[in-house]
Amino acid sequence: MRKTELKIKLSNLTKNIDLIKSFTDARIQAVVKANSYGISASEVVKNINDHVESYSVITLDEAIEIRKFTEKPILLLQGVHEIEDYKLVSEFRFDFVIHSMWQLEKLENFDLSQSRLWIKINTGMNRLGLDPIDFQQALNKAKEVNVAEIILMSHLASSSEVNDDMNKKQIKKFIELTKNYNYKKSLSNSGAIFNFPDAHFDIVRPGIAIYGGKYNEFGTIPVTSLRSKIISIREIKSGSKVGYDGSWIASEDCIIAYVGIGYGDGLPYFKTPLTISIGKKNFQTIGRSNMDLLMINLGQNRDIAVGDWVDIWGFNSDLKSLSDQLNTISYSLLANISSRVTKNYLE
Ligand SMILES: *Cc1c(COP(=O)(O)O)cnc(C)c1O
Repeated sequence: MRKTELKIKLSNLTKNIDLIKSFTDARIQAVVKANSYGISASEVVKNINDHVESYSVITLDEAIEIRKFTEKPILLLQGVHEIEDYKLVSEFRFDFVIHSMWQLEKLENFDLSQSRLWIKINTGMNRLGLDPIDFQQALNKAKEVNVAEIILMSHLASSSEVNDDMNKKQIKKFIELTKNYNYKKSLSNSGAIFNFPDAHFDIVRPGIAIYGGKYNEFGTIPVTSLRSKIISIREIKSGSKVGYDGSWIASEDCIIAYVGIGYGDGLPYFKTPLTISIGKKNFQTIGRSNMDLLMINLGQNRDIAVGDWVDIWGFNSDLKSLSDQLNTISYSLLANISSRVTKNYLE
């Protein structure tokens, strides 16, 4: 079998949730969208169900899949994508977001009595959410619907930037708009849990912090490790071209290792060399990105052999430094791991 694997230490999920709980008294909604940021939503739900208040996802398919493993509320973060979706919302008792007025049409045709209706307000991010001017009207309409509960929410644009004034403005706006209502409130993703205690309200919505992909400086621990084996080694003469378009030319005699992982496995496409460590030594990748391979210049190092493991990241790595090198973010590194990578779950 091809040895390209994502190892997932399931017990670290609840350790990260316990850490989050040490920062907040709010209830926890685990964001498990995009297959739990690439980790597997069903495995995550099975392992954290006693530790959270609810879950959130984007698509109905995701929601229906995890309904097999939990009776807790499952929120559709973008609500329905067409009115007919309320049939499944009703059947599976999903919570749903209202971010646009059209999503409030014809709700009387469905039994939503076991769903919570979350009104999303645009407090300044200008992504999804009702503008303050429409919020009152939406709330009045929502009050006429027979739902289990109404919850008010918004989302911060810069929660990972503790010094960005945008956060203060959005928190102030959210308080202003919602202070006269006795509904539960929700504003914080992972960054806001660590950086803005006054944004916690009743329910916080961590994603990346549960998966340890960010905020290691606050104590989150990585949940995943991505690695693959060296499948070939070749000696190259000075002046030889290697790889697509002959874009890399050896400036001296060297040894190249070929590792079975590429952008077909979800690595970002890159053109500039990456630093990869094997054992305790650092090496550079060479040439263009490949769909199925990574090529590493071992220099004159003869201690490394076919069959050796190469960590793209390990349980001790900070995903941030790798994602910086690749001009991407840790969210994207995790969420893009493709289905052909073997997933091995460790307790
Ligand atoms: C994805 C998402 C989250 C989780 O964000 P993290 O930064 O991963 O904690 C929270 N709220 C909403 C609305 C989201 O879309």
